[in-house]
Amino acid sequence: MEVIKASAWGMCEGVRRAMEMVKEVKAPREVTIYGELVHNPEIIRELEVKGFHSLPEENREKKIKTPYVLITAHGLSQMGKAKLKGQGKDLIDTTCPLVSRIHREAQKLQNAGYFVVILGKPGHVEVRGITEDLSRYAVVDKVEAARTWITEKIGVISQSTLPPSRVPELLEAIWKLNPGKEIRWVNTICRPTRDRQHAIHQLAGQVDMLVVVGGLHSNNTLQLAALGRQLGMRVLQIQSARELVPHQFEGIQRVGLTAGTSTPDWVVEEIYQSLTLMNQGKVFQSSEKERLVHAS
Ligand code: SF4
Repeated sequence: MEVIKASAWGMCEGVRRAMEMVKEVKAPREVTIYGELVHNPEIIRELEVKGFHSLPEENREKKIKTPYVLITAHGLSQMGKAKLKGQGKDLIDTTCPLVSRIHREAQKLQNAGYFVVILGKPGHVEVRGITEDLSRYAVVDKVEAARTWITEKIGVISQSTLPPSRVPELLEAIWKLNPGKEIRWVNTICRPTRDRQHAIHQLAGQVDMLVVVGGLHSNNTLQLAALGRQLGMRVLQIQSARELVPHQFEGIQRVGLTAGTSTPDWVVEEIYQSLTLMNQGKVFQSSEKERLVHAS
């Protein structure tokens, strides 16, 4: 069995940057992480062992006892930040610059008189960070969620991890229900998301199975798995090498490997090693594989 790594996979620059900032924290016991820094149970446990406190994403009303609050790469609204500062908290802000850009674009659209529509998952922590600072907005995650909005100008942006392939159908649904209105699309899907999704398309037809590594609740990991299925691949989504069972790979000649943007490299490496040891197969990067295929 060959193991083919996707040409782009795993931890993105935004999460790496946040992890680096966390390493700089001198007194973890004085810091509460506001939500999940990464969707990886082992890293979350490691942070807890170091002394970091954490506040679940769904329980933000809970009283924070530490003097410092660390905002994750997913970002937080200005309103949310002001509330924490009002409680006397100092913020360690690891918001990904690409998420900050989405906040700015949303504000620019609103200030220019557009009704803001966010293509993304309602309730997702990144989406909440954007919408909490808007006076009027809608979140559209499927064609059926599009509406006729009472406005002349609609500004559409997206969650950073929206699969690019979803954009045309969602924009078309909005356009059909709002004829004659000015509709402005600002593409705020981040480059790492686009690259990882594109890499799945490259693997399609090359592999019999796709292993997707990442948190069970990680939106971008789920999107990678969904794309694999959509492209007709058999998909196995796992969080660690411990979940690999040899019989799952019976009859598989080539397996593709990818990972979500908050998956640590060592987790992917462990899975990669386990897969190759399991089968003693050859290992290629997909770009190398492509070169070999084209050369043959
Ligand atoms: S997925 Fe994109 S927006 Fe989110 S942290 Fe990574 S680079 Fe930033």
